Amino acid sequence: MATSPPPIALTIAGSDSGGGAGIQADLKTFHAHRVHGLSVIAAITSQNTRGVSAVHAVPLKHIRSQLDAVFDDFPIAAVKTGMLGNAATVRLVAKALRKRKPAWLVVDPVMVATSGARLLDEDAIDAVINEMIPLADVLTPNLPEAEALLGHPLRTAKQLAAAGEALLALGARSVLLKGGHARGGEVIDRYFDEHGVMEIQHPRLPLEGHGTGCTLASAIAAQLALGYPPHRAVRRAAVYVHRALKHGYRPGGGTAHVLRH
Ligand code: PLP
Repeated sequence: MATSPPPIALTIAGSDSGGGAGIQADLKTFHAHRVHGLSVIAAITSQNTRGVSAVHAVPLKHIRSQLDAVFDDFPIAAVKTGMLGNAATVRLVAKALRKRKPAWLVVDPVMVATSGARLLDEDAIDAVINEMIPLADVLTPNLPEAEALLGHPLRTAKQLAAAGEALLALGARSVLLKGGHARGGEVIDRYFDEHGVMEIQHPRLPLEGHGTGCTLASAIAAQLALGYPPHRAVRRAAVYVHRALKHGYRPGGGTAHVLRH
C-alpha cells in the first residue's frame, strides 16, 4: 500500500566525491530529517579528506535541465543553495528561483573550502549579492564570507553587531552569521531578522569539521520543509550539526572529521 510522501527539499550545490560536504552531506541531512531530497548538481569537485584536487563546472544547459526536471514534477517545500562556482551559474539559478518561487530558500554563500580551495570565482561575488541574496529567507555566511560580502573586516564586537544590519540590508529576510571561524571556547552563531538578534552558543569541539556549513544550511531547509518557522529551524539545525560533529569521524587519511548523520 502506498503511503503519503514526506516533505520534499532540494539542494542546488556542488558534489564532494569524498562524501563529507556538498550535495552528499545535504542528501544525508535531508534523509536524517525524514525529508525527501532532490539535487541539482551545479559543480563537481574531486575531493577527499585531504583537500580538493579539481573543480569542474557543470555546463549551464545541464544545470537548467536538472532544474526543470525537479521543479516540473515535485512539490518542493524548501530549497538550499550551496557551491555554485561561477557567476553564470549564480545568474541561472537565481533566474530559475525567481520563476519557480519556492516557499523557502536558504542561501549558503559558499566561497572557499576550509582546506583553502576556491569554490566560487572571485568575480561571482557581485552576482551572489545582486541576484541570490535578495531571494534568501535565510542567508548563512561564515565570518570570511560575511567579510567578502560586506567588503570590510569583522573583528570587533561592534563590527559583528553592525554586520547583521548590513547583511539584512543586502535584501535577505534573515541572516545566520556563523561564528565558527572566530576564536574562543564557545562558538557563537548570531541570527538576525526583523525582530533583532538571537545568539546560539555551543562549546567549541576540539576537532576540524568538514561539511559543517553545508549540513547546517541543508538542516535549516529540512526544518523549514517540515514546517518550523525560520528562527526555530535555525536553532534546531544548529543543535543537529553540533551533535553530528561531536560524533564525527575521520573516514580518510586527512585530519578532517565528517559528520555522523
Ligand atoms: N565541497 C563542496 C562541494 C562544498 O559545497 C563545500 C562547502 O560548502 C566544501 C567542499 C567545503 O567544506 P568544508 O569547508 O566544510 O571543508
